[in-house]
Amino acid sequence: MKSYAELARHDGNETLFEVVEMGIISMLWNIPLHIHAEGLRGTGKTTIMRAAHQIMPPIVRIKNCLYNCDPEAPHCPNHRHLSAEEISALGAETVPRPFLEISHSAKIGTIAGSIDLQKITNSSNPEAALLPGIIPQAHRGIIFIDEINRLADTSPEITDILLDAMGTKPGRVQIEETGLPLVELPVQVSVWAASNPDEEPGPLQEIRRQLSDRFDLVVEMGRTTSPDAIADILIQSELRRLGKKEVLQKGIDNSARLRKELETLAKKFESLTMPDFLRNYIARLYVKYNLESFRAIEAIQHTALLHCALRGRQQPLVSDILKVIPLALRHRVETETLTKIMNSSDSKPSTNDNTPSPSLGSQQKKKKPETFSSEYEPAVNDGIMNDNSDYDSAGKEGKSIFQPLKQLFSGKQSKAETGESDNDPIKASPLNKAKRLPDLNLDELVKSEGDFK
Ligand SMILES: [Zn+2]
Repeated sequence: MKSYAELARHDGNETLFEVVEMGIISMLWNIPLHIHAEGLRGTGKTTIMRAAHQIMPPIVRIKNCLYNCDPEAPHCPNHRHLSAEEISALGAETVPRPFLEISHSAKIGTIAGSIDLQKITNSSNPEAALLPGIIPQAHRGIIFIDEINRLADTSPEITDILLDAMGTKPGRVQIEETGLPLVELPVQVSVWAASNPDEEPGPLQEIRRQLSDRFDLVVEMGRTTSPDAIADILIQSELRRLGKKEVLQKGIDNSARLRKELETLAKKFESLTMPDFLRNYIARLYVKYNLESFRAIEAIQHTALLHCALRGRQQPLVSDILKVIPLALRHRVETETLTKIMNSSDSKPSTNDNTPSPSLGSQQKKKKPETFSSEYEPAVNDGIMNDNSDYDSAGKEGKSIFQPLKQLFSGKQSKAETGESDNDPIKASPLNKAKRLPDLNLDELVKSEGDFK
């Protein structure tokens, strides 16, 4: 299996890399982030999500606790009533952050929990005890579900359990077994899912809208259209063949470095807050477009902060919101509504601050690797260099609808919602040309700022 840092980033998958990294920061803030990657087969969605396990910091739990009790906040039936002294007497251990998968053939007992047969059949001391299922065992980590649309179609009972686990933050899980009292537990799990909406049974929002709405962000995956990006992937596989050990080791080292960086960023930006003018803008969106889903606007606020933290900035910017609006709304509103929102021109925030934080300017000249993607710096670094990279990485999320929204924030009126297409400045932008990712030149990005005005 390739290491996370070794996976090639390109215009079609870059947003997913960013979103899973945001998910990890969120996890370190103790707030689950539910992510759904939609796209065709072969776009690498499951590969990226699974490999992200390598860059997740481990957890400290009460020794041998299958429910992953945090020694400072024990929640499981065995530990929640114990005093701090009793907990510390049990000892603690560091274990990898859970990353557990739910398959289509899974049974409810496996997902929620069941009677611990080993304990009940112990002839010297038989006792009725619970064996936690996948969801309670994934506490403080990730549940991964491939082809979630199929699961929602074929297993409504498991879907109900997921709705509970994802309904609030933290969520909850109920374990029901005949002969045992009902146990209800809080669970803090992030659900990461993937699906191909073009295959049976179709898009998740059409199968089970309620479950679709539980996902904070939906990332649409694409294949790269850049021959240079494809050439990089080919170079990389040759390098793997020729110098396997070094390349492999480099990937592992880079992943470890990224894990530390995410940990540092999460700590450093834990107390980030949304400026009033941006929060008010989000609130107006909710009212004006009758968004219905309160989760949607909570997701916009929370993930804009995560996007800002990932870029190492002290202050959330307009561009953080621009980046996440389509990700948070695409699966929740009609396309027409989303287009209207992106084109709207009447609810302007009162100030415009779309410049990178000055304190980070000095870090902009970070050396970029020259040839292939395994050396490619993670988003954590390259995002810092300039906020305009947001527009570049916006990829499939409606680049063409950013322009009017940008005007909205900057105070320009844009009544000509349809007049944009003939002279689309984004299409004319040099950013739109196929570019080898590691070669992206900072100066060029800075220069292109004018194109967005
Ligand atoms: Zn416990």
